[in-house]
Amino acid sequence: MNFWANGMPAGMLLRSPREASTISDPRSAFTLEAYEAASGTKPAKRVAWETFVAYGKWFQKQLDCNLDQRSVSEVRRNGSGFKLTLADGAVIGSRRVVVAAGIGPFRNTPDVFSNLSPKSASHCYEGRKLCELGKRVAVIGAGQSALESAAILHETGTDAEVIARIQTLRWIGMHKRLHQLGPISKALYSKHDVGPIGISRLVAYPNVMYHVPMGLKDRIRTRAVRSAGAPWLMPRLRDVKISTGRTVVLANEVDGEVRLLLDDDTERRVDHVLMATGYRVNIAKYRFLAPELVREVRQLDGYPDVTAGFATSVPGLHFIGATAARKFGPLMYFVTGTEFASRELASWIRRNRN
Ligand SMILES: Cc1cc2nc3c(=O)[nH]c(=O)nc-3n(C[C@H](O)[C@H](O)[C@H](O)COP(=O)(O)OP(=O)(O)OC[C@H]3O[C@@H](n4cnc5c(N)ncnc54)[C@H](O)[C@@H]3O)c2cc1C
Repeated sequence: MNFWANGMPAGMLLRSPREASTISDPRSAFTLEAYEAASGTKPAKRVAWETFVAYGKWFQKQLDCNLDQRSVSEVRRNGSGFKLTLADGAVIGSRRVVVAAGIGPFRNTPDVFSNLSPKSASHCYEGRKLCELGKRVAVIGAGQSALESAAILHETGTDAEVIARIQTLRWIGMHKRLHQLGPISKALYSKHDVGPIGISRLVAYPNVMYHVPMGLKDRIRTRAVRSAGAPWLMPRLRDVKISTGRTVVLANEVDGEVRLLLDDDTERRVDHVLMATGYRVNIAKYRFLAPELVREVRQLDGYPDVTAGFATSVPGLHFIGATAARKFGPLMYFVTGTEFASRELASWIRRNRN
C-alpha cells in the first residue's frame, strides 16, 4: 500500500465506484464491504482514500501472506532462474519473478518544466502536501488527478489554475440515466465501469481484449482511459480558473516565483507547477531490472509483450498491473483488474510448474 498511503493527497476520493474498488482474493471473502463490516466503517457512496488505505492494510493482514517489505534493488538472470538483490544486500534465488511494481517510475514530466527546481515543480505522483505548495499553483492536465488536486487546492485557500491542452474538459459518467435502467444498464456497462458504453463491456474481458488486433486495441484502451474528471468534481471547480486549449511554452524561475508563458502569449506567475500529466509505461525505467534483462524482454513501445499468464519472452519473468494493459486492455490499470490478473497468473503457473 506504499503508493496509496504516501502518494495521495489528503481529501482524495477514489474515482472508481465502490463495486470496482474491491481487491480480489480467491474466495471473495475480503471485499470492501467485509472490511467495512469488520471495522465498523460506515459505507460511503464514494470511497475515501483513507478508507482504501485502511482496507488494503486489513486485506494484507487477513491474507497472512508472509510479506517481506524489503526493497528489491536488482533482478538479473541466473542460469534458468533469477538472482534478486535486496536493499539490505541479501540475495535471493528464484525460478520465477512477477513484476507488479506500479507506475511510479513512469511519471510523464513535460520537457518545458525540466529546468524548474523541485521546489517549484512536482508531479502529482510524488504526493507532496498540496497545502505546502504555495499560495498560487498552476495545475497542468485535465484528468482526475489534475481536477481533484485543483479542487482540493481551491478548498484549502490556494489560488489554483488548471491549464489543459484539450479544448473542453471531459467528464465521465455523464449519461446518468443509462446507468439507471437495471438489466439494460448491465448490458451496456460492466461492473468495473472502465470506459464508455459498449467499450466498458468489452474491456471487462481481458482474455477477449488480448485477441483484438493491436491497432484497434490501442484505440479502445486510450479511449477508455482518456483524460476526464468525475462529475462530482464539477461543483467543486466552479470557482477555479480553468484555461483549456492552452499549452505552456516556456517556464522559468524569476525572483523566487515561476513564470509561465502560454501559447496565447499570456503569462502566469505562480509559486508552484503541479504536473498531473500522466504516465508512460517504459519497463526500462524500473531501475531494479538489470539493463541486459530489460533488453531481453520483447517489448511494444516500452510495454512488455506479455502473452498468456502474463509471461514474457524471458522464461519465468511475468509483468502484471499497468504494464500488462497494452496486451490485456485498460482493466489492468485498475484495482478491479486484480481479479483477472491473479487468476490468470496463478492458473498459468499451476499449469507450467515443471
Ligand atoms: C492519482 C491516482 C489515482 C488512482 N485512483 C484509482 C482509483 O480510484 N481506482 C483504481 O482502481 N485505480 C486507481 N489508480 C490506479 C492505481 O495505481 C492502481 O489501481 C493500483 O494501485 C495498481 O496496483 P499495483 O499493485 O499494480 O501498483 P501499486 O499500487 O503502485 O503497487 C506497487 C507496489 O510495488 C512496490 N515496489 C515498487 N518497486 C519495488 C521494488 N523495487 N522493491 C519492492 N517493492 C517495490 C511499491 O512499493 C508498491 O507497494 C489511481 C492511480 C493514480 C496515480
